[in-house]
Amino acid sequence: MRRLIYSPIIKIQRLLRRKSRYWPPRLPGRGIEIGARDRPIPGIQPLYVDRFLEFAGSKCPAHVLADGSQLPFRDSSLDYVASSHLLEHLANPAGAIVEWYRAVKPGGIIYMIVPDRRLTFDCCRQRTSIAHLIEDFDRGTTASDSTHIDEFFDYVDLRALNPSITRGQVKAFPEEHRALHHSAAREGRDVNIHFHVFEREDLVSLLRALGEHPRARLRYEILDVRSFFPPDAGNGFLIAIRSRKPDQ
Ligand SMILES: [Zn+2]
Repeated sequence: MRRLIYSPIIKIQRLLRRKSRYWPPRLPGRGIEIGARDRPIPGIQPLYVDRFLEFAGSKCPAHVLADGSQLPFRDSSLDYVASSHLLEHLANPAGAIVEWYRAVKPGGIIYMIVPDRRLTFDCCRQRTSIAHLIEDFDRGTTASDSTHIDEFFDYVDLRALNPSITRGQVKAFPEEHRALHHSAAREGRDVNIHFHVFEREDLVSLLRALGEHPRARLRYEILDVRSFFPPDAGNGFLIAIRSRKPDQ
């Protein structure tokens, strides 16, 4: 039903994409895009940061090989940190945002495009609560954490995730992959799932909570919030913030 409601809006967005004032973004200066893979954000000239040179058979643009949650950049050294369809893959997204805030200059921009839960294969999953995200931040949840795996496989729309799955495989496929992911976590290897799912307001609330958290104390202003973003895909949202941390 949600797809029926939203798909005409996404089609209109696609028709209007060349007229959008907000896409491609304007991000001047020295900045990074994390995890761009085969879909880099157009119109910007970042240093690309990725954990891999190649992933799932595709080359990753990577000037800097690093974990996006542990950046090898000095405090307050970047004009912007950009990411698209990355935050949902992180076991500790609040920790990543705090790390990006550390690395941007006062006045620097954190630019995040995140899939809207309702418009993806995550549509049957519950919105992740802010309390949960703060708990992950407080306990430093890592990518080999096993506690998110079952919720993902219990509720993900597998046929939307992988259209090549046949009706006959719908029951066996998740159980096989659930076991493989638990095995990876037991061995301390990274788990690659959408750890959490978001709607636009959730990320706004998370940023607000990080403004009040004693280990984060984010000082920022919201520059832009857009739904059905980017206009040529339409299945996510944009939140761009400017750091208001004091000059050092
Ligand atoms: Zn979590």
